Amino acid sequence: METKYIFVTGGVVSSLGKGIISSSLACLLKARGYRVTIQKFDPYINIDPGTLNPYEHGECYVTVDGHEADLDLGHYERFTDIQTTRANNVTTGRVYQSVIDKERRGDYLGKTVQIVPHITDEIKRNVKMLGNTGNFDFIITEIGGTVGDIESLPYLESVRQLRWEMGTNSLCIHLTYVPYIAAAKELKTKPTQHSVKKLQEVGIQPDILVLRTEKDISPEMRRKIALFCNVAPEAVIQSIDVDSIYKVPIKMHEQHFDEIVLRKTCMPVEGEPHMQPWLDFLKKMDNATETVTIGLVGKYVELQDAYKSINEALFQAATYSDRKLKLIYIHSEKLNESNVDEKLSPLDGVVIAPGFGQRGIEGKFVALKWCREHDVPTFGICLGMQCMVIEFARNVLGLDEANSTEMNPTTPYNVIDLMEEQKSISNMGGTMRLGAYDCRLAPNSKVAEAYGATDIRERHRHRFEFNNDYRQRFEEAGMACVGENPETGLVEVVEIPGKRWYIGTQYHPEYSSTVLSPNPIFRSFINAAIEYKKEKK
Ligand code: GLN
Repeated sequence: METKYIFVTGGVVSSLGKGIISSSLACLLKARGYRVTIQKFDPYINIDPGTLNPYEHGECYVTVDGHEADLDLGHYERFTDIQTTRANNVTTGRVYQSVIDKERRGDYLGKTVQIVPHITDEIKRNVKMLGNTGNFDFIITEIGGTVGDIESLPYLESVRQLRWEMGTNSLCIHLTYVPYIAAAKELKTKPTQHSVKKLQEVGIQPDILVLRTEKDISPEMRRKIALFCNVAPEAVIQSIDVDSIYKVPIKMHEQHFDEIVLRKTCMPVEGEPHMQPWLDFLKKMDNATETVTIGLVGKYVELQDAYKSINEALFQAATYSDRKLKLIYIHSEKLNESNVDEKLSPLDGVVIAPGFGQRGIEGKFVALKWCREHDVPTFGICLGMQCMVIEFARNVLGLDEANSTEMNPTTPYNVIDLMEEQKSISNMGGTMRLGAYDCRLAPNSKVAEAYGATDIRERHRHRFEFNNDYRQRFEEAGMACVGENPETGLVEVVEIPGKRWYIGTQYHPEYSSTVLSPNPIFRSFINAAIEYKKEKK
């Protein structure tokens, strides 16, 4: 079959969940046996979101091939179990960079280089890149931003041209918002009508409308929207607020979302998607009554998207262990000796978050000292692992001013230090140690037991590392280095074997945790927290 291209645009407001709708569709199509992938086009000028602080766009997700990506790629992977790559996330910055490089090389042969056709052609080339590999039946392309934004225009023009060129091999799904006006006790369709008009103004007729809403949209209202927007009534679909994003694929399927997509792209509609494993997960989620309470110590706790993949990995692990996850965010800047007992005592397990820079770091040390001394299941991720090492150096090895050279370049005890290959780097964008690397685990460690393997591969995003000059002193005092890169000897995992569960990973296991295959180390951590809760009682 020819590759089908599905474009997903959004209108009225941002944060409608285009990523969740795209992921849900991919999940359903994959469950029907199709080869699917999703890509995101972001209209900002940054080459990638790696240089954005989490307050801007939430977490920076990392793909196996080391691309610093929009957090929506995390949803794509969690919903589909399909790994994404650099090719799945394009920004305006990358499009322009490529066009400008071509101009400098002289590729345009003296022509005036313009948004149309040169930028739009470059966008179109990128849209078709994954399709051209022949590896996919469906390519879902999510266009970031909101219809009507200045910066989205070149993308919409590209979509218009592609729709025209591809005919029934393509489709446009437009996501809008139907607000409920409490005073009038009414849902309002006008913003949707206006948003579709905006799309039509740039020459795009949506085939399917997905309406985000808090209340049920009546058949009558659907017909009205269909009539005003030139869309078939059955192709007006509601996306009502649900208690878990993982229910969205089922809600969409109930309204024949996947069937409509197949029909409109001239594909046979036969049978049902194989959603049983997914439904089993939802059943576990709904049936869980007991809770497991986890604290996440970090500095971006005001914005929960900053730790999206960690939240989801914890949630998936808790669900598989038949528990409701109660996640408590603990602001590392506000944590100190006088309140740590009160803040951490109610918890069954503690995660020390990844991060960069000095802010909030001392609070992480306070938390870690408390957790280590009280033998609470504790999981340090990336900077969290580095903090475990520093706290241990200060309070167990007696190296008072131990630190990472990231926080104090002149520390007398640089137990965490800049990686050798980082020393010559001056550009900040895309230059960390990024993506998946091999890690060999010590056979008798808890972490090897968790994975049920000694050779694993996980994703990374860091510049600093455990300083191997100190390794022997740590090991002698009870902190073992139980995971390392087989080629370089870089320490990937530390563990205090004498504790219930005290493990830090230099890598980010959260990026590879999905609904249908939750990450083993998160599962092991949650199980330890559940055990600890029982013991506490
Ligand atoms: N700032 C630390 C480093 O660069 C940790 C990074 C992280 O937590 N992702 O090594």
